[in-house]
Amino acid sequence: MMLINLAYLIAAILFILGLKGLGSPRSAPRGNMLGAVGMLIAIIATLINKEVMSYTWIIAGIVVGSAIGAIMAKRVQMTQMPEMVALFNGFGGAASLLVALSEYSKVAGHYHNALVADAGMAAPQWSVALLLSAIIGAVTLTGSIVAWAKLQGYADKAMQLPNQSLLRAGLGLVLLVLCAWFVVKPEMGIVLYAIALVALLLGILLVIAIGGADMPVVIALLNSYSGLAAAATGFVLNNNGLIISGSLVGASGIILSKIMCKAMNRSLGAVLFGGAMVSDEQMANIPGKEFYEGKVKSCGAEEVAMLLENAQKVVIAPGYGLAVAQAQHVTQELADLLEKRGVEVKFAIHPVAGRMPGHMNVLLAEAEVPYDKLVEMDNINPEFSQTDVTIVLGANDVTNPAARDDKTSPIYGMPILEVDKSRTVIVIKRSLSPGFAGIPNQLFINDNSLMLFGDAKAVLQDLTRAVMEL
Ligand code: NAP
Repeated sequence: MMLINLAYLIAAILFILGLKGLGSPRSAPRGNMLGAVGMLIAIIATLINKEVMSYTWIIAGIVVGSAIGAIMAKRVQMTQMPEMVALFNGFGGAASLLVALSEYSKVAGHYHNALVADAGMAAPQWSVALLLSAIIGAVTLTGSIVAWAKLQGYADKAMQLPNQSLLRAGLGLVLLVLCAWFVVKPEMGIVLYAIALVALLLGILLVIAIGGADMPVVIALLNSYSGLAAAATGFVLNNNGLIISGSLVGASGIILSKIMCKAMNRSLGAVLFGGAMVSDEQMANIPGKEFYEGKVKSCGAEEVAMLLENAQKVVIAPGYGLAVAQAQHVTQELADLLEKRGVEVKFAIHPVAGRMPGHMNVLLAEAEVPYDKLVEMDNINPEFSQTDVTIVLGANDVTNPAARDDKTSPIYGMPILEVDKSRTVIVIKRSLSPGFAGIPNQLFINDNSLMLFGDAKAVLQDLTRAVMEL
C-alpha cells in the first residue's frame, strides 16, 4: 500500500507540474506530456493494487473506451472541441455516479446480512462521500448532455421554463431532505436512487436556462464538477490518487471559469443564474444591417497587398472565423512572406477569441507559428498605435470598440483588442453578419477600416499571391 501511495504522490507532482506547463503555449506540450505520464503511473499503481480481483472487465473497458475515444478524437473538427469536452465531462460525471451506486450495492449486502453495526463503511462520512459522488456525478452527467445538445444546435440556446428558479430551489430542498434521510438510515437504498434521480433532473434545470456566449463558461464549470465528483468518489473508494487528481481538476476548472468570466466581463453568478447575456430591452435596441448602410468601404486583395508591402509593422488579430475557415496554415505562409520582405509581424491573442480558451493558440501552434509571435491582449494593445496595418482575421466581438466606448452596448466592459488604434485596419470576413454576441461592430465603419470580404482561407491565398506578384 505504501508503494502505491508513493506512486500516487509522484503522479500528483507530475499533474501539478503539468498544469503549470499548460499556462503558456511554449510549455504546454511538455505540460501535457508530464500530466499524461502522471496519469499512466496512477493507473498502473491502481491496477497492481491487490484489491483488484479480475482484470477481464477492466481490460474490456480499456479496449472499448480507447477505441471510441480514438475515433472521436480523430473525427472531431477544431470548431467542435467544446462539444467534445462537454461529452467528456458528462462521461466523468457518469463514472462517479455509477461507482457510487455500485459501491453502495456492494455494502448493501452487508446491511441485508444484518451487519449494520460493524460495517465501518456505514459511518456517516462514508455516506456523505457516497452522496456527493452520486449527486455531483449526476448533475454533471445531465448538465453536460444539455450543454452538448445546445452546442450541437439540438436544443434552444437559453430556455426559460415557467417558475424556473422556484423549481430549482424546490428540487434543491427535496435533495437536502433525502440526503439527511439517507445519512440517518443508510440501509434505505431506495432513497439513494431517488437522490440520484432528483440530481439528474437538477443538472438539466441548472444548464437549460444558460445560453449564448456563456456556454463555454458552463463547460469549464462542469469540468470542475466532474473533478469534484471524482474526488468524492476517491473518498468512497479510499483512493488517494483519485482524491488528489479530482481535486486538481475541480480547482483548475473553477479558476478557468473565473478567467473566462473576467475576459467576457461577466460574473459567475450572472452566468449561472442571470439567464440571457443580452436582455430583451437591449435586444430590441440592437440595430440591424441598416447600421452599416453606405458607410462600409470594401477593397480587393491587390489593394491590401500594396498596403502590406509598404508597412513596417503588421499585426494579425485572429478570431473564430480563422477556425471555421481552417486558414491557420495559409496565415503562417503570409506572415512568413511578409517577414522575408522585412515586415515585422505579430499575432494579437484575445483570451476568448474563438469558442474555447486557448482556441487561437492551438490553431496557430498547429501551423507552427513561433510562440514569440503570439502576443497576449494586454501586451499587444499598447502596440496598436505604432502598427501600420492590422488584419482582423475572422474576428468580430473581440475587436468591437463598443465594448470600450458604448455604455449601452450588451458587451460594454468586455476587454477588447484595440485594433482600431492602428493606422489601417483590414477586416477579413464573409459578410457583415454579427459575431457571437449578435451585435453590429463599429470597427467596420471606422474611417481607417477596409473590409476584404470572403472566406478567410480563400482571401489569404489571393492576398499571398498578390504580395508575391508585387
Ligand atoms: P465572433 O465574434 O464570433 O466572430 C467571428 C466572425 O468570423 C463572424 O463575424 C463571421 O463573420 C466570421 N467568419 C466565420 N466564418 C468565416 C470564414 N470562413 N471566413 C472568414 N470569416 C468567417 O468571434 P471572435 O471575435 O473570435 O469572438 C469570440 C466570441 O465568442 C466572443 O463573443 C466571446 O465572448 C465568445 N466566447 C468565446 C469563448 C472562448 O473561450 N473563446 C467562450 C465564451 C464565449 P461572417 O459570417 O460574416 O464571415
